[in-house]
Amino acid sequence: MIEDSPFVAAAPVLVPMPAERPYTYAVPAGMRVVPGSIVRVPLGPRQVAGIVWDGVVEQVDARKLRPIEQVFDCPPIDRAMRRFVDWVAQYTLSAPGMVARMLLRAPEAFDPEPWIEGLQRTLVMPDRMTDARTRVLETAEGGLAWTRSGLAHAAGVSSTVIEGLKAQGVFETVMIPPRPVVAAPDPSYAVPDLMPDQNDAASMLRANVAAGVFNVALLDGVTGSGKTEVYFEAVAAALDQGKQVLILLPEIALTHAFLERFQQRFGAKPGEWHSDLPPRMREKVWRQVAEGGVRVVAGARSALFLPFKELGLIVVDEEHDPAYKQEDRVFYNARDMAVVRGHIGSFPVVLASATPSVESRVNASQGRYARAVLSARFAEAALPDLKSIDMRRAPPARGGFLSPVLIDHMRKTLEKQEQSLLFLNRRGYAPLTLCRVCGHRFGCPVCSAWMVEHRFRGQLVCHHCGHNERRPEACPECGTLDHLVACGPGVERIAEEVVTHFPDARTIVLSSDIMGGVRRLRLELEAIANGEADIVIGTQLVAKGHNFPNMTLVGVVDADLGLANGDPRAAERTFQLLSQVTGRAGRTGKKSLGLLQTFQPDHPVMRAIVSGDAESFYQREISERERAALPPFGRLAGVIVSAVTRAEAEGHARGLRRSAPEAPDLFVLGPAEAPLSLLGGRHRFRLLIQGERRADMQSFIRAMLANGPKQRGSVRVQVDVDPQSFL
Ligand code: ADP
Ligand code: ZN
Repeated sequence: MIEDSPFVAAAPVLVPMPAERPYTYAVPAGMRVVPGSIVRVPLGPRQVAGIVWDGVVEQVDARKLRPIEQVFDCPPIDRAMRRFVDWVAQYTLSAPGMVARMLLRAPEAFDPEPWIEGLQRTLVMPDRMTDARTRVLETAEGGLAWTRSGLAHAAGVSSTVIEGLKAQGVFETVMIPPRPVVAAPDPSYAVPDLMPDQNDAASMLRANVAAGVFNVALLDGVTGSGKTEVYFEAVAAALDQGKQVLILLPEIALTHAFLERFQQRFGAKPGEWHSDLPPRMREKVWRQVAEGGVRVVAGARSALFLPFKELGLIVVDEEHDPAYKQEDRVFYNARDMAVVRGHIGSFPVVLASATPSVESRVNASQGRYARAVLSARFAEAALPDLKSIDMRRAPPARGGFLSPVLIDHMRKTLEKQEQSLLFLNRRGYAPLTLCRVCGHRFGCPVCSAWMVEHRFRGQLVCHHCGHNERRPEACPECGTLDHLVACGPGVERIAEEVVTHFPDARTIVLSSDIMGGVRRLRLELEAIANGEADIVIGTQLVAKGHNFPNMTLVGVVDADLGLANGDPRAAERTFQLLSQVTGRAGRTGKKSLGLLQTFQPDHPVMRAIVSGDAESFYQREISERERAALPPFGRLAGVIVSAVTRAEAEGHARGLRRSAPEAPDLFVLGPAEAPLSLLGGRHRFRLLIQGERRADMQSFIRAMLANGPKQRGSVRVQVDVDPQSFL
């Protein structure tokens, strides 16, 4: 008899830890699991949530296995999502368990949301009527169930009135289902009148959605051309087909304005997903996405790992944005993985940007992606006039960073009662502090980086590891008092300079370290949009996506800043960032101006921006990448080896290098000490693997790691396929 046999069914379960493959657990008699079931299993001394994975397990001796403890009452993770997890793990060389872990980050959501106690009207009439009671009965007319507090609030009575009625049997208790986090979006709520070119683009996207197969469209349109409006038509088409939609956004600070915009078009907000969401809310969204109640999610890159019930479209807004790259544990680019997700799920993907990545442009020109172009701003809004200021000819006053040319335009803008934005991608007051007497420079004790002065907080802060200390009065090296000097500008220092020129102007400094966090940031952004500031000084946070109607001047304090590092994408990034920033100007038809302070006005990036000739910039950039066999024409991967001692890190990195296999189409550069050679007390060495487009990068690295030295002591190895950062 089977019940007496020690051999029982077993199932592979992927657990959220760095395991290369699922572990096998016994399935107790009477328990039913399917691939994708979320289960509770013992793991060492703990209990963890895992996912039943695919593959048959032989009947095994139950005495050797620990049993699955519980199957959660939760929709199973579907096949497409499971294949996606496998794919991401294999591509990024991560343990599948670590990828699954990103999917399982809402533990309370595995149990159904509890129903809540509600009240419903019976046929019983109260013994006597009062005004309050009349209001309650009128409110509860129609037979809907109410929560006690909801009914009290709606009728404007105290809950004792409700209690009294319930005691008389006028209301009875019923259980009501949990409320949806958002109402259902209505695809035909507010359909816009599109301009002819917008209409062409929207038709293409709609046709892509209607085809119901995998395809990628690049929606390439200048800032303010109506890209959002156009991709909303694709969203509407997917909703009409009964599909769920994911819209990825690069920046949390952006989502607020986006949610409202979405609501204007669809009559309801989309579900929201990012790290700043309260845990309760995260859990509700996760669950309702899994059950299909939430139809559209707007979220950060991690939303890719939400367990959609019937996902049918992904839109990646600002697809070029480096924020889509996660560089922590599993290194992945959400833009690229969105395309993979679409491929696996057989549905379309839309990539939108005013300044597409070179990779996406090449994919479009080679026919892998369709491309729709919007070349003009919507309605009367014109793109700003763009000019460079040659800092060699019009230098700032001594001790300052703003050219008289820029200051002059700021004055004119103020006189017209319009807004200026000064952009500098550097938080804090000054990037370097030194002692004028002995030359001592303040470095981070655990990183190879200078400490950035934050004068407002009175601190020196390391922007790499977060280490901070009070800014001293005296030099710790020579002891001299009051001889520390700040070198170079951050946004706080620019603000100080602005105040000396325009003491009466309303000035706001905005950067991600703003006190009060995201909430405060939102309020400040709204205040700016409402015209409550004259001069805004900000980091890249203000560069992206916002709509400031009265902003007519954008000044870039240091346009050369991003060009100097050895990153192969430095020119592209600078071009994108400067285009985005200057794109903040003139969104409502007023004449507007963008000024770039630069020491290299003849640099191709500056020329491309000033001339508005993005096309020749892309052509040049693309042919340079092709010549150097850099992505997307070739492949790159970084291997970062770190350890507590320099010798350990270097030794291990050399060992890896020696164990690299022979391959005709891949070669290893390095190891070399990383530009950021010390980070959080760990010494770092980098290997760079470069190869041809078709080369099998993953097998190569896997072989190198397998043949390489055993990872001992404090050594850690991190693989970064398609690196964005070379620090
Ligand atoms: P992008 O996403 O390309 O920066 P948006 O979609 O934000 O552009 O459009 C810029 C502005 O123009 C927005 O305020 C948007 O509502 C408006 N707009 C664009 N197209 C239309 C249209 N066809 N009808 C009405 N308003 C539009
Ligand atoms: Zn540090």
